[in-house]
Amino acid sequence: MDTIFDKIISKTIPAKIVLETPRLLAFHDINPQAPVHILVIPKKKAVSMDELREWDDATVGQFFKGIAEVARSVGLNENGYRVVLNTNLHGCQSVNYVHAHILGGHQLSGSFA
Ligand code: 5GP
Repeated sequence: MDTIFDKIISKTIPAKIVLETPRLLAFHDINPQAPVHILVIPKKKAVSMDELREWDDATVGQFFKGIAEVARSVGLNENGYRVVLNTNLHGCQSVNYVHAHILGGHQLSGSFA
């Protein structure tokens, strides 16, 4: 079933795109939780982080390198940032298309839960 992120990839619905490559799409979160809040999704679909187990190592690596490239492209690398992959029910994943949140632009708090 198509999720909102499938529709953003197919450009059926708009998003504020930060970076697009043949392998990934990065766009601003519609409800930002930090001064910079970007979502990074691979164009190869996986439902969740859990499904990345089924990917070959190179494709997983490309996704994670892509996240770092996106963060660097908006200048977050120097001061730092947080990457979050909410997964399934207890992780509060609300969109069933794997996505990494990049959060930054100010001092984040030290708490995780
Ligand atoms: P999750 O809770 O699944 O980890 O994160 C889903 C994220 O997608 C949320 O932070 C939410 O604000 C964001 N989101 C949901 N719908 C849209 C949308 O239509 N456009 C954009 N840009 N972000 C969305």
